[in-house]
Amino acid sequence: MFTESVEKLASILKNGGIVIFPTETVYGIGALATNTEACLRIYAIKNRPSDNPLIIHFADKSEIEKYCEVSSLAKVLLNEFSPGPLTLVLKKKNDSLFSCGLSTVAVRIPDHIEARKLISLAGPIAAPSANPSGKPSYTKMEDVLEEFSGKVDGILRATEPSYSMESTVLDLSQEKVILLRTGSIDRRIIETRLGIQVEVLESPEIISPGMKYRHYAPNGKIFISKILPSIQEIQSKHKILSNHFGNSSDKSISKIARIGFGMSDVSNFDKMVFNNLDYMKSLYKFLLDCDKTNIEIIYCQEPYDGEFADTIWDRLNKASST
Ligand code: AMP
Ligand code: MG
Repeated sequence: MFTESVEKLASILKNGGIVIFPTETVYGIGALATNTEACLRIYAIKNRPSDNPLIIHFADKSEIEKYCEVSSLAKVLLNEFSPGPLTLVLKKKNDSLFSCGLSTVAVRIPDHIEARKLISLAGPIAAPSANPSGKPSYTKMEDVLEEFSGKVDGILRATEPSYSMESTVLDLSQEKVILLRTGSIDRRIIETRLGIQVEVLESPEIISPGMKYRHYAPNGKIFISKILPSIQEIQSKHKILSNHFGNSSDKSISKIARIGFGMSDVSNFDKMVFNNLDYMKSLYKFLLDCDKTNIEIIYCQEPYDGEFADTIWDRLNKASST
């Protein structure tokens, strides 16, 4: 069911259903976080590895305190960055929420009016990104409908994601503040605003199971370069022919796509971006479209140094790893 009614979707959730809804980061596929059976259905629909826990979405801070131990530092972070694209891993207070067998839960308050309305009507919602595991997170309704129509019990039509990138995940369940996943809020902004140190681990997968899986992988091969080569240079380097600028309706003929700041020979398959924020917001849709148009060779320009560079680098490295 495709609807604008958060009331209808809240009642589907309360009856154990699965719904897809937009947030300010990406689309989420959610179940009531207190319903283990419904939460487990999300894993089957997404083909998600069973040891990868779900982020629980809340409508406000007082709700989080009912289920989790909120330290004074967690309160400061919530006050400063919530609602918003920051997820905190906290110790759980009780066993009411689906937690994948862990002693902690990841919590977030989305900065998205309709999503929060849905949560406040239904209760806390466990929701990973709405995409088949291993594919880029979905940021547009057209992609959600193509993949999930008929597979879930409801889809909310509301404001599309604005960041188009997942939340930043911090572990607050230990002595130090640890970055588990870089995302829509740059670690340095958190450090500067709060005067705290955020630890970056070499192997975050030890604490955060989801980090060990290959993510964000398009079918084509990704090459990362400081300066984007021209189509001619790519063709001769890879010894291929493509009608990159042709008007052929046979989309399979074109095999090359590029994303980056500097291109003089831009075609429909390329994505020109203007700064790191624009790059971050465009990346997933670009990668997804590469699959749709059977792109085989994907050139991504290195981001500029500074804000959002870590997040773009992280996703580029994961998308290009084999
Ligand atoms: P997704 O929902 O697909 O955007 O991914 C959620 C991310 O949060 C994954 O990388 C998970 O491993 C991580 N995560 C969720 N819950 C926890 C938790 N309790 N402890 C550590 N990491 C978590
Ligand atoms: Mg995900």
